[in-house]
Formats: sequence, structure tokens, C-alpha cells
Amino acid sequence: MTTSDLFIDGRFVPAATGRTFTTIDPSTGDPIADVAHAGPHDVAAAVSAARAALDGPWSRMPAAERGRLITRLADLVEANADELAELESLDGGKPIRNTRAMDVPAAAAQFRYFGGWPTKIEGETIPVAVPDTLCYTRKEPVGVCAQIIPWNFPLLMAAWKLGPALAAGCTVVVKPAEQTPLTTLRLAGLIAEAGFPAGTVNMLTGDGGTGAALADHPGVDKIAFTGSTAVGREIGAKAGARLTRVTLELGGKSPNIILPDADLDAAIAGSYQGVYFNSGQACNAASRLYAHRSVFDQVIEGLLVRIKEARVGQALDPSTELGPLVSAGQYQRVRGYIRDGIAEGARLRAGEVPGEPDGGFFVQPTLFTDVAPDMRIHREEIFGPVLVATPFDTVDEVVRQANGSEYGLAAGVWTRNLGDAHTLAARLSAGSIYLNTWAPGDPAAPFGGIRASGIGREMGRAGLDAYLEPKTVWTNLTSR
Ligand code: ADP
Repeated sequence: MTTSDLFIDGRFVPAATGRTFTTIDPSTGDPIADVAHAGPHDVAAAVSAARAALDGPWSRMPAAERGRLITRLADLVEANADELAELESLDGGKPIRNTRAMDVPAAAAQFRYFGGWPTKIEGETIPVAVPDTLCYTRKEPVGVCAQIIPWNFPLLMAAWKLGPALAAGCTVVVKPAEQTPLTTLRLAGLIAEAGFPAGTVNMLTGDGGTGAALADHPGVDKIAFTGSTAVGREIGAKAGARLTRVTLELGGKSPNIILPDADLDAAIAGSYQGVYFNSGQACNAASRLYAHRSVFDQVIEGLLVRIKEARVGQALDPSTELGPLVSAGQYQRVRGYIRDGIAEGARLRAGEVPGEPDGGFFVQPTLFTDVAPDMRIHREEIFGPVLVATPFDTVDEVVRQANGSEYGLAAGVWTRNLGDAHTLAARLSAGSIYLNTWAPGDPAAPFGGIRASGIGREMGRAGLDAYLEPKTVWTNLTSR
């Protein structure tokens, strides 16, 4: 087993206490590596390094040079794509075909997109009514940012957060999830290789305690968090108390609606991918399916055919479509929901109650019908390969059901009728609407949720703005 250190002020160092934790391969349950466990002392050192870089070389660097470094990081991610994909699959149980085709190229694309931004961040001149006055705005970096990353897309979520922060001229302390620290640490190596000034990016591996210490640190100007709604509420409360800037990307229970005139083959294929991709461990998983009663049975049959053919297996096997869940904890959680659904009277159409894990944390794609709106499996985010499907009769009824959730991350509609599609796009309350598709993404397109799904947006100009503070400058032109 190898040991991986923290990345503070441009150097790899052990935790001040010498503490480590073990990261596990979810495909086998075997340990992969011991990783440094950062505590409050390391948090203080990282925040102080980030502050020094913010006040020093990073803020003095011309925008074009900042963009060049971010672009170089995109190049390095691409040059090391195979290694990053393997590490991501090993550490997080994500199928290698997906990490190769999606996670790593999408992370590089984030850096490439945001590498173009620094030279385009412009203030405005404001036509104020005050005579003989020049009024303009500057867009300044928010400052030192704490970025807390989840385990479901470890490298990609780090890229979503680092790209805009660096483009804006902020400095950063990143805290990856304890289940999946390895690609973040590898990214730290690439950041050093790219030539970012020491302290611009710091990486602290550790658990929720490390994240809490970082969120508590008074030297942090902004917190960006992706993870569970419960922890998001806690971080939001802390940020509120200190008036620290905050963006939160949290859970979801996203409705996916199939109207009777939909292209059913496409709708079934998209609905299947929408919920089972990444074994359902996606915040925008299409986890609540509503199909019109006239096509409901056909949709379920189509899903069952696909489920039967699903290849669940070891993450590093190129034929695997669905890998294991990330951890024993997540496995037990999902198992609990499946048991609960059966106990509450829902009908299990595919899948089974998982037994005690034997090595890897594998859960078969699971499908419930005959689900009542108040059942936990219908209301709560499961974050596993579990779909609940319900028929509907009228559009008003399905809109009410779809919007009747505390979450509001994504919603989808399958139909051939443009009018219905765009009317529903307006009526569904969620941060992203998918029409005849599910969850495409692009670094230029904002992503985020409303209500319990979060605050703020990542990616695109909106994602960049979350790392910028406008400053208004007033000048009396008659002053001598
Ligand atoms: P999950 O329950 O899906 O593991 P979490 O919200 O617990 O999701 O974790 C997401 C990220 O937040 C991880 O990096 C984790 O270490 C971190 N985290 C967990 N608890 C806290 C906390 N109280 N304060 C700050 N960060 C935390």
C-alpha cells in the first residue's frame, strides 16, 4: 500500500498529526492506499498558504498567464487520462468505460473552458446621473475558497469547482471525499507540474471533520460544497452566521415524465440511463419515473428488458456497465431503502434485497411499481440504482406530483409535441430541464438546484460569477 500526502503550499506533506486513513476498492472491499488525514492544524496551514498566494504571486499574474496555466492543466489531464481513469475506477467503483469516456474528458473540458475566461472578465462603465462622474465596476476574486467535493464524480466535481475559482483569480483549499481521495491527489501533482504558484491550490484529504474544520475557518471567504442536503444545510447555516459566500449543490429526486406521444424507444433508453448511470449515484438521477397510463406497461417492459441485460461488475472490467456502490455505508443505506420499499407495499419488479456484501458492494438495478406518493422510496433520495415508476392520467396531475418534492435539481419530459415540451419546461420547478434527453452537460451550461437541491449554479458564466465580487468605483472628475 502506498501513502499519499496532503498538498499544501506547493509541497506534498504528511498530516501534522501523522494520522492517515485507508481508501477501499469498492469492487473488492480491499484496501488500496493509506492517505493523510488532515486536521485543524493542516487546515490552518492550507488556508494561510492560499491567503499568501492570493495576496502575492497569483493576484499579480496577468489574466492571460492565469488562463494559460488553467489550459495547461487541461492538457495535463488529457495527457494523463488513462492513469486518471484507472485511479477513478479503482477508488470509486466507477466503470472504466465511463471514466474513460466521460469523467476524465469532461474534467479536461472544464479546465479548457475556464482557461478561456480570465481574459474576458470585464467590469462595466455605468451611466450614472451624477454630473462629472466616472462610475465603473471591477470584478474581483471573492478570495480564499474552501471547496468540498463528493465521492460520486470526484475528479469532475473538483474540476467543476477549481476551473471557475482559478479563472476568477481566487485561491483554493480542496477537500475531496474520504471514499475517493486518489484522483484529487493526482490532480495536485498535475497542478504542481503545470506551474501554478505555490499555495494557489491546496488539497486536504480527510473526512467530514476535516470538511467541517475547513468550513469553520475564519480565513475562508467562500465555501463551495457538493454533497448531501443534510451537510449542505449545516454548511449553509455556518456560512450564514459568518456571512461567508456559499454555493451548495445538493440532493435530488428528479421526475422524468413520459407523455403518451413520446418516441418510446428513446424514452425507455434515456430513462434507463438517466437513473442507472453511475449505479444511480448521481445527484440528478432520473429516480422518479412518471409514464402516461396508456404507455406505462410498455415502458416498464422495455426497462425490464434492459435491466435483464445490464452488466454489473468490477469497475476495471471494460465490459462493466454498472459498477459497485462506493462504500459499505452506501451499500447498507441503499439496501435499507429496498427493504423499506417492500415493507411499505411497493411492488419489486426487478432487483432483489442485497445480501451482506461479499467483497464488492454490488446492487442490481432495481425497479419498483405500485408506489404511493408518501413512501420513503418515492420521496427520499436513495443515491443507488433504484427507480420508482408511477402511471399518470393528466398533465396537471403529473406536474403536481413532479413538483411535489422538497428537491428541485432536474426534471425531464419525453414528447414529440413542442408546445407540451416547452410548456412543461416552464411549469416544472427545477434547475435543469431535459427535453427528450437526460443529463447532457457542457462546461458552458449552468447547473444547480432550487429548494433543498441547493443554492447557486456551477459551470458557465453563472458558475464564474459565483467566484467574483463586483466593486463599484466612483470618481469625481472635477477634483483637482
Ligand atoms: P454523503 O453522505 O453522500 O457521503 P456528504 O455530504 O456526507 O455526502 O459528503 C460530501 C462531502 O462533504 C465529503 O467530502 C465529506 O467528507 C464532506 N463532509 C461530510 N460532513 C461534513 C461536515 N459536517 N462539514 C463539512 N464537510 C463535510
